[in-house]
Amino acid sequence: KSEVFTFGETMVLFQPEQMLPLEYIHQFPKKIGGAESNVAIGLTRLGHSVSWFSKLGNDPFGRFVLKSVRGEGVDVSSCLLTDNAPTGLLFKEQLSPEDMNVYYYRKGSAASMMQPEELDAEAIAAARILHISGITPALSESAFATVMKAIDIAKRNGITIVFDPNLRLKLWSAEQAKKIFNEIAATADVILPGLDEGQLMTGETDVKAVAEKLAGDSEKIIVIKLGDKGAYLHANDQKAYIEGFPVDSVVDPVGAGDGFAAGVISGLLREEPLEQAVRRANAIGAMVVGVSGDIEGLPTFEAVERFMKPAGANRD
Ligand code: ATP
Repeated sequence: KSEVFTFGETMVLFQPEQMLPLEYIHQFPKKIGGAESNVAIGLTRLGHSVSWFSKLGNDPFGRFVLKSVRGEGVDVSSCLLTDNAPTGLLFKEQLSPEDMNVYYYRKGSAASMMQPEELDAEAIAAARILHISGITPALSESAFATVMKAIDIAKRNGITIVFDPNLRLKLWSAEQAKKIFNEIAATADVILPGLDEGQLMTGETDVKAVAEKLAGDSEKIIVIKLGDKGAYLHANDQKAYIEGFPVDSVVDPVGAGDGFAAGVISGLLREEPLEQAVRRANAIGAMVVGVSGDIEGLPTFEAVERFMKPAGANRD
């Protein structure tokens, strides 16, 4: 029984160490890449229990993903390995610190074959939070149906639903994404869009207008991610910009949003004031962009606390 349930596709990630076009890369360190497992690993590091579900190829890559996520302390006991489809792959190409391209080999992957009835309904019902990412519904019809089934189980059991849109325009069109994001957002208790995603969902441009439209007259908590500027929190009577933490040099911009989501979810589990949860989420996002890789920079609870203290505050 875990506090958080999440699910999606995690691929084998080949991330070169050099900043060069992929044509000129000869060596590819092998890692894992997947937004939902990033969130799961982030939460585990912060001291929470998390279950992650996926369907992987019964091949060396699928076993590598499974072992890696399990090795981080995430419960993977409901994951499936299939002989009928391969594990998805992903290559990153970094041309400059801010210029990152990704190449997917995930069409027809095992994860895209996930079915609603393969979800561990008991694990969802026993959790406190269901984390949904907007990548999973883009994988296939059956993956979308799996998302809606998970939401249905959570709703019937009073589980808090946290939705991170995670727009991936390589997987579907902006129009398709907008429709499905709004359908999922209508069921969510907490929505964590980037400003661009919020703008797509609402048609508004201004941060406050986006948040207001996403919340409507519901009690939803909206936190809009604003990169180095931090985030904007909108919840009932609380409306505030929460400043980000300065980063000396951005090494790898990917994965900050997942670390941020782990921070917000951790705050909800700890029943902290929302502003504090968002402040910690900002700190985690800042820590992640300073390190190469999606999961390498994810901090423990103690490490974020230290990071958030003003310089000199550690001295006795
Ligand atoms: P991702 O690239 O992982 O999809 P995202 O687009 O969802 O990320 P961002 O706004 O880029 O989200 O980053 C998430 C959070 O991480 C921000 O709200 C902020 O708190 C922190 N963050 C990101 N970039 C920086 C930065 N350059 N300096 C400081 N904090 C940052």
